Amino acid sequence: MTAQVRGGTWRSWGGNLSIEPAVTVRPTDSDQVLQVLQEAASQGVAVRPAGPGHSCSPLVPTGGVLLDTSALKGLVSVDEDRQRVTVFAGTTLQELNVVLEQHGLALANLPDSSHMSVGGALATGTHGTGLGQPSLGGQVIGLSLATPEGELISCSETHRPELLDAARVNLGVLGVVVSVTFQCVNAFRLHCAEFREPIGSLLDTMQERMSAADHFEFSWMPGTTVAHTRILSRLHRLPDTYTRPASPISRALRRADDAVLRTSLTAGLGRVGNLIPRAVGRLNRIESLAESSRRYTDVSYRVFTVARPVRYVAAEYALPLEATASAVRELRTLVDAHVYDLAFPMTVRCSPPDQGHLSPAGGRYTGWINLRQYGRRPSQTFLTAAEQILVDHGGRPHWGTLHTRTAADLAPQYPRWDEFLALRAELDPQGLLLNDHTRALLGV
Ligand SMILES: Cc1cc2nc3c(=O)[nH]c(=O)nc-3n(C[C@H](O)[C@H](O)[C@H](O)COP(=O)(O)OP(=O)(O)OC[C@H]3O[C@@H](n4cnc5c(N)ncnc54)[C@H](O)[C@@H]3O)c2cc1C
Repeated sequence: MTAQVRGGTWRSWGGNLSIEPAVTVRPTDSDQVLQVLQEAASQGVAVRPAGPGHSCSPLVPTGGVLLDTSALKGLVSVDEDRQRVTVFAGTTLQELNVVLEQHGLALANLPDSSHMSVGGALATGTHGTGLGQPSLGGQVIGLSLATPEGELISCSETHRPELLDAARVNLGVLGVVVSVTFQCVNAFRLHCAEFREPIGSLLDTMQERMSAADHFEFSWMPGTTVAHTRILSRLHRLPDTYTRPASPISRALRRADDAVLRTSLTAGLGRVGNLIPRAVGRLNRIESLAESSRRYTDVSYRVFTVARPVRYVAAEYALPLEATASAVRELRTLVDAHVYDLAFPMTVRCSPPDQGHLSPAGGRYTGWINLRQYGRRPSQTFLTAAEQILVDHGGRPHWGTLHTRTAADLAPQYPRWDEFLALRAELDPQGLLLNDHTRALLGV
């Protein structure tokens, strides 16, 4: 098969999923992608596109063809006047950020990690935090899609806008996204303030706090009463030498702080907790104390992203914003009773209403609640109980994280569900791009 590079095992980043696809291919351009799809279609073999595997739900696994997008990367074009950039879909967000910086541009909002690919991040509705700034899919103004029928279809806000809205969150079932055009903004800096505060009073005012900040998030370490709040404020673009008004720690000091307190200590405590689950409660309190207050200013993408020293699996739900504080309170009660199960902080973020047909943040201001656990030691009991609370509060699962929802639960939550299914059937009538998980999700 075209662009076949290797067989072997594919593993997700969190280590909870592994598969042996029949063939792995690594196309470098749209012609090769189309050829892979055509060959697979003629043989009736399934194909799943894959990024770097940062999703821990089984969206990628296939016994057929794994279409690894890691060589489908790089800049396609830049329009500095209109602040638009087109990249191939296998480009990582880190690579995209660097290209944008070279052109004096930036994405308005980003997730907290930059190692995922543009195509993978779009497929699952990847978001950052901040009620005034769009998620990744909301910053897309056009893309091209290679379909199993052998077509390369382009869509934009003016040409096939209904396809663009469906493709903003596409689960990799509409086609293989080949390139994506983003509407960018002028490069900017972010001022970050991180501090500890009592979680009880934070929850009482959470919605107002989220509305007042450009970007607001907090984490709560199980077994403690303290939240770590992170408030990011957008600054105009400034010369590289600019460090004031609020940079009490330099970038070098911050990196040292990240490496020692927030990376090595976290990783070390995590490993001890993994070996001695009963110690997790006390270790959490040590880790919580280690994360002191700090303020710094840097180029936006370096502040949006945070270090992830230990691999994990996550369950994240998107809730109506007004239901989020109540869900967090119930989860606190549950988590305190299961403190062995959660050696990672619970993180709460927010986003504005999204346009994507299948965006979990579609049509409403959203609070995101993220629960993380070790990939090798996730507690199903805890996840089941937590999911019930999140669902009872009107939550929709993040497609790239652990959940047990299927089409019967999901269809009523998405007003444009049928439109998405109709487009999928039109673009992939044979169901070549489906695997067991996406069949169950979509009910096809
Ligand atoms: C450390 C870490 C931090 C994270 N932070 C955030 C965060 O801040 N916010 C958030 O919302 N999520 C976050 N996530 C989740 C992550 O953004 C999603 O799981 C994302 O889908 C991962 O992208 P990926 O490139 O690794 O894709 P993969 O996990 O490899 O694939 C995900 C989906 O994308 C599809 N896909 C991949 N490439 C293409 C393509 N070119 N065309 C069509 N479909 C394609 C695949 O078929 C699959 O369905 C995080 C995950 C990790 C591990």
